[in-house]
Amino acid sequence: MGLLDGRVAFITGGASGIGKGAALRFAQEGARVCIADMQAEEGEAARAEIEKAGKRSEALFVVCDVSDPEAVKNAIDLTVEKFGRLDVVFANAGINGVWAPIEELLPNEWRKTLETNLTSTYLTVHYAVPHLKAAGGGSILITSSVNGNRTFSSPGASAYSTSKAGQVAFMKMAALELGRYGIRVNAVCPGAIHTNIGERTYMRHTEEIEVKMELPEGKPGVNQGQGEPEDVADVCLFLASEQSRHVSGIELYVDGGASLLR
Ligand code: NAD
Repeated sequence: MGLLDGRVAFITGGASGIGKGAALRFAQEGARVCIADMQAEEGEAARAEIEKAGKRSEALFVVCDVSDPEAVKNAIDLTVEKFGRLDVVFANAGINGVWAPIEELLPNEWRKTLETNLTSTYLTVHYAVPHLKAAGGGSILITSSVNGNRTFSSPGASAYSTSKAGQVAFMKMAALELGRYGIRVNAVCPGAIHTNIGERTYMRHTEEIEVKMELPEGKPGVNQGQGEPEDVADVCLFLASEQSRHVSGIELYVDGGASLLR
């Protein structure tokens, strides 16, 4: 018996990193998975990998820009059309965007980060809720971060940190609103995880505003706070499955404890 046997999961940003790790893990536990991502080639490759790893040998990939309402609606509708239901929703896609001093950060750069990380989370939940209600309940997960919740020390990451704090506030509002329908809503807050997020990070003059802090013995915490997508995927599996049936409205830090100091 898999922990997600019979379940259908929709995962944004599933072509890479944390989203792909969770998709593989969910499929191993019996879920049928749809990944939605803007990277067509990587998404198709991930779909094939998920089908190979999965118990049910069925996965779907949909090209989708998560900041576009129509695209998100379409991806969720296609998932339900193909698999017949929806039980688990993982709003995970995100970018670091531009990190720069506030006076240099341009309005369109601010907007892009907020739309990709925060508005997309609302859009994903907005279009998924009717399907979760129809299934009689479900589990919503959101990838936030230690940034904006426990640490504020990444220089120039004002837009990113604001988007990540906003996701946790939204998660708590949604948890309270949706509990009566048997829908749980939780967030994971990863620390440093080895993924491809650096490819979507642009830094300008951050050295000018950095607050230098020296940790002579390196970062504290398990593995010096360095994690892999699989470390987050197992936590997501817990939150997606019945193992966490009485857990809603929490942010769960997945950082080896490193953000307790920094
Ligand atoms: P990643 O770049 O490896 O994966 C992110 C995926 O999201 C990519 O496949 C990318 O194509 C997709 N994506 C980006 N913008 C999109 C858009 N507009 N529409 C659709 N798909 C889009 O990075 P990751 O580290 O796996 O990031 C996943 C989430 O984890 C993000 O929300 C990120 O903020 C969060 N996070 C990451 C870390 C870390 O250290 N890697 C730490 C804390 C939080």
